[in-house]
Amino acid sequence: MNRRAKMTAAKAEKMQQRLDAGLVSELFPKVTEIVISMQYSQTGVLEPLSRTVNFFPGSSAIFKVNCLCSECVESGFDFAKIITTMVKTHKTGSKGEISCENCSAPECLDVAYSVTIKYAHMR
Ligand SMILES: [Zn+2]
Ligand SMILES: [Zn+2]
Repeated sequence: MNRRAKMTAAKAEKMQQRLDAGLVSELFPKVTEIVISMQYSQTGVLEPLSRTVNFFPGSSAIFKVNCLCSECVESGFDFAKIITTMVKTHKTGSKGEISCENCSAPECLDVAYSVTIKYAHMR
């Protein structure tokens, strides 16, 4: 496959995944908002780069944050496990470090993250 065909295939697969995953509200009915924030410590740069991704009940339940690298088309930081565990235990906040699934660029390893989850008040 040439590069273009590869990119198109990757895109199609991503779209399929999006359809398969369903919505956040289907997966986690009690969740009203999920916020992922990440801090990339860039080597040689004083200000760390921060990035925030929000998920709402109507969002696709794909908790994957794309890598900053241009080489990483299909992979990235997978928060699915972290978020699933948090929702199961009804946790509202979690912090840690996460690495890209695929690349070994220093800025993509051990990126500091925090996840905040808001739940609907259920009685
Ligand atoms: Zn990377
Ligand atoms: Zn990567």
